Amino acid sequence: MEKRNSVFGAKSPQTEREVNDVAIDCRCGRTLLQLTSESIVQFYCHCDDCRAVSGGAFSPIALFPSDSVSVVGGETFTWTYKTLPRTRCSVCGTLLFGEPKGSGMRGVSGFLLPLSRFRPMFHIRCSSAVLAVDDALPHFKDLPASMGGSDEKVGW
Ligand SMILES: [Zn+2]
Ligand SMILES: [Zn+2]
Repeated sequence: MEKRNSVFGAKSPQTEREVNDVAIDCRCGRTLLQLTSESIVQFYCHCDDCRAVSGGAFSPIALFPSDSVSVVGGETFTWTYKTLPRTRCSVCGTLLFGEPKGSGMRGVSGFLLPLSRFRPMFHIRCSSAVLAVDDALPHFKDLPASMGGSDEKVGW
């Protein structure tokens, strides 16, 4: 748990750059990611693809510009299920991030973020959900308008 909260450049945390830089690691601790910006948006995705790959009912995702998510230690492999390439630790298999081709974005697995940085704002692809989640966040059928979707919500 200590490691997940570690901050690069901790000598003087005054500058914005140093506050934004966060190191996160996989479950075995061999692979390290460096994040050098705030996330653009965070959400839970209920799509078939995320469920098939994660083995869970939904996936927590924090979207970052690709160039602010770097593998700085360890070994990874990238595997594509259907269309979305996802990168994992080559030892423990922890899902680190997915990068839709040509998007310029990396969707980092939200549960790897320090708790203080994990701030999901809504749920997406809820029309595919297998488990209703009763929380105070908006539950979009597909995507919010800000992400090019219908902005329609489901009733749970
Ligand atoms: Zn690992
Ligand atoms: Zn998804």
